[in-house]
Amino acid sequence: MKHCPECGGPWHYRLGDGRFKCRVCGRRFVAFPSIETVLKENFWQSMKMTEGEF
Ligand SMILES: [Zn+2]
Repeated sequence: MKHCPECGGPWHYRLGDGRFKCRVCGRRFVAFPSIETVLKENFWQSMKMTEGEF
């Protein structure tokens, strides 16, 4: 699970558009809080995403 990039809170809702909303501070954020995570997850997702939504 991802943590809020604003307050680090581990609790959040998943929004309909695939983003998350922090339960602690209410900030909305994408599923990838850090660039390292983006790079890692993009690596795996790019393998599945080739025929997918992109
Ligand atoms: Zn937060």
